[in-house]
Amino acid sequence: MAFENYEVWFVTGAQLLYGGDAVVAVDAHSNEMVSGLNASGNLPVKVVYKGTVNSSKEVETVLKAANNDEKCIGVITWMHTFSPAKMWIHGLQQLKKPLLHLHTQFNKEIPWDTMDMDFMNLNQSAHGDREFGHICTRMRIRRKVVVGYWKDEETQRKIAIWMRVCAGWADSQDMLIIRFGDQMNNVAVTDGDKVEAEQRLGYHVDYCPVNDLMKYYDEVTDEEANSLVQEYFQLYDHDASLEDKTTEAYTKVWNAAKAEIALRRILKATGAKGFTTNFNDLGKFDQIPGLASQRLMAEGYGFGAEGDWKSAALYRTVWFMSQGMNKGCSFLEDYTLHFDGENSAILQAHMLEVCPLISEHKPKLEVHRLSIGIDSETARIVFTSKQGSGVTATIVDLGNRFRLIVNDVECIKSKPLPKLPVASALWIPMPNFEVGAGAWILAGGTHHSCFSFDLTYEYWEDYAEIAGIEMVHINKNTTISEFKKELRMNEVYYMLNKALC
Ligand code: MN
Repeated sequence: MAFENYEVWFVTGAQLLYGGDAVVAVDAHSNEMVSGLNASGNLPVKVVYKGTVNSSKEVETVLKAANNDEKCIGVITWMHTFSPAKMWIHGLQQLKKPLLHLHTQFNKEIPWDTMDMDFMNLNQSAHGDREFGHICTRMRIRRKVVVGYWKDEETQRKIAIWMRVCAGWADSQDMLIIRFGDQMNNVAVTDGDKVEAEQRLGYHVDYCPVNDLMKYYDEVTDEEANSLVQEYFQLYDHDASLEDKTTEAYTKVWNAAKAEIALRRILKATGAKGFTTNFNDLGKFDQIPGLASQRLMAEGYGFGAEGDWKSAALYRTVWFMSQGMNKGCSFLEDYTLHFDGENSAILQAHMLEVCPLISEHKPKLEVHRLSIGIDSETARIVFTSKQGSGVTATIVDLGNRFRLIVNDVECIKSKPLPKLPVASALWIPMPNFEVGAGAWILAGGTHHSCFSFDLTYEYWEDYAEIAGIEMVHINKNTTISEFKKELRMNEVYYMLNKALC
């Protein structure tokens, strides 16, 4: 349902050399394949068959239409017969939507006993898809190549991943991120070139005076605040004493609810898909609006702390791509280290802002003193994360380009922190703490990242391909010496490829 307003177009390549009967058959087969893909239940986005293209003019017409169709988030091409690829040049020069080249065949197996030349003239993707691949490579067209029988689940799984990434990409092309306050002073890694980010990634990053947010805060009615406070008490475990209206803690929960309502309202009013806060610039809030940030992240709003607009935008994309998947995602920060031999791990948390979608249990609503920013009793929900494999990602600005850094991580059992009651996860970066953290640091990675239990590196590979940005993937096979070579090679590659810088 999440992607019901999106379509992926399916375009079949052929030519007229083999006569009208072949064209009719190509069309019938393509229709059957698209129906089959849609009926498989494995694809999150509807596939729409846009016909067979037999000439340069037809290619150009359909690919230009794809550019201009708001529902179309990507194009799948497949060459049923041999489709001489010069006819794709003009269309591909203009295509702006993500491209997936599916190398498959209508029939699964060779019909040994009945195959004749008519059959061969029709079923030519074995060479037709190579001809198409050549022109894409020669033209430096970025795309995903999926190889496999179209009815196989593994083939469909790869298409499904690319579709989710296309949806995330479409969502980010008009992504407004609102910054309440500026970057935390002097911090380098969370900053970057916002003009380049808009050109390359689609993000539009605006500043919003905290005073504007305060107007929304003042306009929240007692009735609205009360209703949300009651929702908190229903949703979250809490000590019974927290419901005592005469206490400071209750007032803090109340004001946290007001902050949440105000933030949601201003985000809706501006059409923003994410926001950042800065603990040094909080207007007349009486506490950091951390509970609001936790809950808004769970709703899909991007969030980055300390003005980290890149993380806010990337988190939104993580959430958007993984809609309907069930293990969850969060903005997280490398908080503190745990040295324990092979189980050495990094505690992932933040002063408050961790998304409850990754919680392994019902979160607990608590109020405790927080001395950063506003020194005050502060509401938050506290939990520990699920365990299992996940992937974390960040984008850094290297001055001449963006680099997407992706690390496979293994979440292990985190523990409650009675003296530091914040939500947390605990993970071992792959291949182990020493190499994982070392490679991340060599790549220039942030202390903030966007984590998901549901996504895998393949999503990020597709994302980087579509965006045309560098990606480095730290995984179970990573070694420091090979990784350093990759970083050096990439430096040269991107220096020479000015179009990607
Ligand atoms: Mn932080």
